[in-house]
Amino acid sequence: MTAVDTHCPYCALQCATTLHPVERPGAVAVQPREFPTNRGGLCRKGWTAPEVLTVPDRLTKPLVRNAAGDLVETSWDEALDFVADRIRSLQTAYGDDAVAVFGGGGLTNEKAYALGKFARVTLRTSNVDYNGRFCMSSAAAATNRAFGIDRGLPFPLTDLGGAGAILLVGSNIAETMPPAVAHLDAARAAGGLLVVDPRRTATAGLVDEGAGVHLQPTPGTDLALVLSLTHVVLQEGLADTAYLQERTDDPDGLFRSTAGWWPERAERVTGVPAVTIRQAARLLAAAAPVHGGAGAFILTGRGAEQHSKGTDTVTACINLALALGLPGRLGSGYGCITGQGNGQGGREHGQKADQLPGYRSIADPAARAHVAGVWGVDPDDLPGPGRSAVELINALGTPEGPRALLVHGSNLLVSAPRLASVREHLAALDLLVVADVVPSETALIADVVFPVTQWAEEDGTMTSLEGRVLRRRAAVTPPGEVRSDLAIFAGLAERLRPATPFSTDPAEVFEELRLASAGGIADYAGISWARLDADEALFWPCPEESHPGTPRLFADRFGTPDGRARVIAVDHRPVADDLRGEAPLYLVTGRLLQHYQSGAQTRRVVELAEAEPEVFAEIHPRVAAQLGVSDGRPVRLTTARGSMVLPARVTTDVRPDTVFVPFHFGGEGSVNELTNDALDPVSKMPEFKACAVELAAASLS
Ligand code: SF4
Repeated sequence: MTAVDTHCPYCALQCATTLHPVERPGAVAVQPREFPTNRGGLCRKGWTAPEVLTVPDRLTKPLVRNAAGDLVETSWDEALDFVADRIRSLQTAYGDDAVAVFGGGGLTNEKAYALGKFARVTLRTSNVDYNGRFCMSSAAAATNRAFGIDRGLPFPLTDLGGAGAILLVGSNIAETMPPAVAHLDAARAAGGLLVVDPRRTATAGLVDEGAGVHLQPTPGTDLALVLSLTHVVLQEGLADTAYLQERTDDPDGLFRSTAGWWPERAERVTGVPAVTIRQAARLLAAAAPVHGGAGAFILTGRGAEQHSKGTDTVTACINLALALGLPGRLGSGYGCITGQGNGQGGREHGQKADQLPGYRSIADPAARAHVAGVWGVDPDDLPGPGRSAVELINALGTPEGPRALLVHGSNLLVSAPRLASVREHLAALDLLVVADVVPSETALIADVVFPVTQWAEEDGTMTSLEGRVLRRRAAVTPPGEVRSDLAIFAGLAERLRPATPFSTDPAEVFEELRLASAGGIADYAGISWARLDADEALFWPCPEESHPGTPRLFADRFGTPDGRARVIAVDHRPVADDLRGEAPLYLVTGRLLQHYQSGAQTRRVVELAEAEPEVFAEIHPRVAAQLGVSDGRPVRLTTARGSMVLPARVTTDVRPDTVFVPFHFGGEGSVNELTNDALDPVSKMPEFKACAVELAAASLS
């Protein structure tokens, strides 16, 4: 092996790295590489990522559960034959929709594309969705309905570097993607870093004295807070009225929908002082181009989005950005900080229940005809829209629902809400197949486990949070009998519907993906493998090979039929599972610097596991005193879904009405035992971020 340039396996920042050979088989050493998003930096997760390649319990052979209930090693042919036979008999008995597929936002573009095609063409099932539904789906839904296009950041991340103000709503990038903090420097220096978060996170901690504002609302009230910020902008004559007239469809609607949210009323709902709301609105407006400012950005993260009103909260943020004339202006804008490594690409190529490659609607006859043409099938044979992630999970094993589930790149038994219900539905299946790199919590209960390649063992492409398409490159040979997920789709397709074969070569799959996406919203037609290998930074849409790509969207028009952004009136509503006498505190969940998503990878990295070995509950000192609990002592958390005992971490970083628990831990430490699966009606995002909880002192059993 020689040095190989690739990108970090984890988050959507996709920090650039170079992998170097080491003497141990299958292992590499990593060095950061200069790249616009990470500027030569890596976080602790990125530095330690090579360890995941050689963890002691790495899956290296297919496993099938035997009559005694044990997972035992078998050959690929036997495992594929077994799965194909079970699928065939279940579909014969119950119909095509008896088999479901669940994907992940960490899969390469090629795997995501092949997964969607496999579901629609080989299985002919409508039951396909992915864990991105738990990630940025509310922002995707909101930007689609306002702008007609969903690209997390419709501008390069480096544009933030010149801004005078940045409003971060529910995004803790100082812990989730630390190298990105450098892009906040100018706004911090200008005193314009505005952070909305119920916790004093590491990101909120960047708001030094006089350098910005930390707005610390009651959980579940950020929508009311943003409506009030917009109210101040409009009432104080700070809006860009010419922009509103020229570039939006309903400027008056903006006034009407925010008229009732004067800061004193918002203070009663959010707990944020009216004076702070006014200060933040004025700081943001002062940086807007209409006032001659350096530029302003509004960015949302999961804190704003993982609510049953997440789409409306993001819509309120977009409305505020429109009021200030930011979207489409160079050096300003609205964007979503996508979380998962390929959260952007993963939602463009057909993993979603309602979409075909190119970010096309599966209900659109023209889109169906185009994609069916590329796939060589009759459009009438393609299934229609299916169930979203939680709806799909809740249907598993029911009389009307799927009898089999294939999971790729997802650890549902840690990352889905209301886990007791998830466990029940998975247990009711006739067949559970999991493809993963390690025996995750979900893999351990599967009937069949396929060992698959990971980042440094595979070629492919990923799409960063900016819509920039990147090359992932193989640096080492995978261990044992590990194969790509592409080989699973190809092997099953060969057994089930051989008329439509699947390639196992990522470059060939990418070529097909380019054709399927051509003319769609996320158009990759001009992004060739060769251009990516030459390290061209190519942002979609890129319709032809002579096209330079599109780093910035919306300069002249939005993606709506008339080119104007849609102003959509939204209003605050309470958390679905709101406080009550017996559950008087809010439970909120979130991330830690040391871990990534369900923790299946990072909990196996010794350095990271030692730094944050176990789950905990952050509680305020006042609450601790009321309970008679000191730091490290056990507390019992009880919600309408379940109960768990965790060690307390006593800190003033949380509000007295809030309990924070990180979600990276499995087994008895999975906070999703307690979270609510109430859904946003538009995005179908579950309400991970807020539910009522009862707290009590406990004893460790
Ligand atoms: Fe960069 Fe994210 Fe990897 Fe950290 S986890 S090194 S921020 S890509």
